[in-house]
Amino acid sequence: MATSAAEMSAAPNGEGGREKREGEKRATPNPSPFALYPSQAIGVMGGTFDPIHYGHLRLAEEMAEAIGLERVLFIPAGQPPHRGAPRTAAIHRLEMVRRAIAGNPRFAVDAREVERPDPSYTVDTLTALRAELGEEQPLWLLLGADAFLELPTWHAWRKLFGLANIAVAARPGAQPLLSYDLREPLKSEVLKRQVASTSAAGPAGSVQLRQMTPLDISATALRDTLARHGSARYLLPDAVLDYIHEHQLYTHP
Ligand code: ATP
Repeated sequence: MATSAAEMSAAPNGEGGREKREGEKRATPNPSPFALYPSQAIGVMGGTFDPIHYGHLRLAEEMAEAIGLERVLFIPAGQPPHRGAPRTAAIHRLEMVRRAIAGNPRFAVDAREVERPDPSYTVDTLTALRAELGEEQPLWLLLGADAFLELPTWHAWRKLFGLANIAVAARPGAQPLLSYDLREPLKSEVLKRQVASTSAAGPAGSVQLRQMTPLDISATALRDTLARHGSARYLLPDAVLDYIHEHQLYTHP
């Protein structure tokens, strides 16, 4: 069952997004019942999570702490449009995310993308969240550097800036995160939108490039390790590893 973002507190505490004209066109349906109370920002952590690992969890945790996120929504992709089909059925990936985040009150899972039969475009997910949470709710899309560098290949990518702020974490193996090293067209967007402090960001439209504890873990490497019956212990939560063994996932290359 998807976590309803509308159940979470949403309150006017931002300064208005940079893409105001786009923002003004959107309606604010169903204001949250908690709308009178100030709330903090919400993070959106998308991914294939095939399987979820400590790289994902630390990214979310460190960004949540640095930005002051009240909640991070983990949104497993159904059929990601920009890559091949996930190795593992959505139901397993969703359950692994649930197990991985259990016990962290700041983390929640949102199943909307796996419940959708069509490709999961981030722009559609953020549009839906924005409609549920209202115009003033600060939203932060959390991305690793490799995903961020691919952003211009995403569907309607420039619209993302009108819907959320973006926090990018350096990732081992990806290009170092310095705005002047980025290639166009991403570079211009970052130079225009980069903020030194998250307190300078409104509900949407800002970008922050941040360091995190470097963890050279990838789902691809994990799948390879599991397929050759190597040890994946301490690279992902035990509860996820138990689930993988229980359901005999990733047993073949
Ligand atoms: P795969 O190896 O199958 O491509 P992955 O490990 O990169 O998977 P994804 O589910 O594709 O995981 O990633 C979701 C998000 O998490 C992306 O924004 C990605 O950049 C980020 N991410 C994944 N692993 C790390 C890591 N070790 N450090 C920082 N960010 C990460």
